[in-house]
Amino acid sequence: MQDELRRLPKVQTLLESAPAVRLIDVYGRADVASAIRSKLDDARTKIIAHAADPETPLSVNLLWDDIAKDLGAVRATTLKPTINATGVIIHTNLGRAPLAPQAMEAVHAVAETYSTLEYDLDTGKRGSRHRHVEDLICQLTGAEAALVVNNCAGAILTCLCALSAGQEVIASRGEMVEIGGSFRMPDVIAQSGATLKEIGTTNKTHLSDYADAISDKTALLLKSHTSNYAIVGFTSSPAREELATLAHDTGNVFVEDLGSGVLVDLAPYGLPNEPVVKDVLAADVDVVTFSGDKLLGGPQAGIIAGRRDLIDLIKKHPMARAVRVDKLSLAALHATLDLYRAPNNPVERIPVLQKIAEPIEDVKERAARLCDLLALTPNVEADLMSTTARAGGGSLPQQDLPSFAVALKAGVRSADAIAETLRHTPMPVIGRITKDRFLLDMRAVAPDEVEEIAAMVELALAT
Ligand SMILES: *Cc1c(COP(=O)(O)O)cnc(C)c1O
Repeated sequence: MQDELRRLPKVQTLLESAPAVRLIDVYGRADVASAIRSKLDDARTKIIAHAADPETPLSVNLLWDDIAKDLGAVRATTLKPTINATGVIIHTNLGRAPLAPQAMEAVHAVAETYSTLEYDLDTGKRGSRHRHVEDLICQLTGAEAALVVNNCAGAILTCLCALSAGQEVIASRGEMVEIGGSFRMPDVIAQSGATLKEIGTTNKTHLSDYADAISDKTALLLKSHTSNYAIVGFTSSPAREELATLAHDTGNVFVEDLGSGVLVDLAPYGLPNEPVVKDVLAADVDVVTFSGDKLLGGPQAGIIAGRRDLIDLIKKHPMARAVRVDKLSLAALHATLDLYRAPNNPVERIPVLQKIAEPIEDVKERAARLCDLLALTPNVEADLMSTTARAGGGSLPQQDLPSFAVALKAGVRSADAIAETLRHTPMPVIGRITKDRFLLDMRAVAPDEVEEIAAMVELALAT
């Protein structure tokens, strides 16, 4: 054993060899040295194990191919494009909204060089980053003023910090939402320094519950869109207009967290329960908050819109600085919002809305095309299937969208095994499993991704 250990080459010798020199060109000396060291450690462990157990096969060959592979794997990013065949259009784990080409161009232009992020070309002095999108948001929502922060969780936290810290916030027990990724309304209120006064019951909260709870410690009435669940059966909650009147008659502020917050009515496309921001503000809500990357279809962002005096207070609060939006998101948001302006039709221009509004025949055509492409793939059986898809991103679970999927079978492989194999192709394809069948739902798949899916299925499953 000692002999074998002594026969292992020295790191220094290996580093001077031709294959190492080639790798150093690509990965740098330190990383190549550390990859070599780790392979030598493996070899040493194997030699020692062999000494202890003569049955263990011995392999001390240092494989440059292995080293190159290890180095490549360490350098590869784990953040990479995927194909979303889950049937959930706004899939938070898959990055929510794909951007429109106009938004990507805007990001590119601002990323490449310097910009007027906080620079006023007229005065040659410092400008405000809020000004780039404020007018556009006001135009589209009817708000007097607006600002954009990092995300909707940051938006609601900033609002509460600026408008109710040290005072009481009144909210209904039926609206204590938890959104995926650890956003819980009671915790956010506590973080803001306000005290939550919960009122009503899970299914019913009356105007009188709000009225009875208001005291001289109250600063704010908070309504939240129960975006990812629904309470059905005997339920009631006061109308926005009534809450607004109550808040204003008692000298309080009325804030509504809309979550998704749509700018155009999506009822004609099967999403009847998403409140349109303009309607909410027209019902006298003082301030609304909503996400940039849910049904709006833009980059991650949190939009705060409403009464000018309140927005001014929010803009000045240190929390607004802590969660401020970056220039890339701002550029993408401006370009996305611009697609809501005439003569553009947002439902034709914004990918998320396109996918929601797309006629079922077109979804079916993609599914049929994928079946055709896979018809001759050995070992693979592809069946067209009618399914239901979802808007996702917290829009109501009952609002299913009709869709079509391709159900895959591949020899004796289980649905889980197919899912796992397709997750590890060069372009990962993420499907879903329903009743033990692996499905590729076509609602969120772009037309030009169909060929790519077929190629990945062939690569992964044809034997
Ligand atoms: C999604 C959502 C949030 C959080 O939005 P992010 O942009 O993910 O921070 C807050 N409130 C509601 C009601 C939501 O649906």
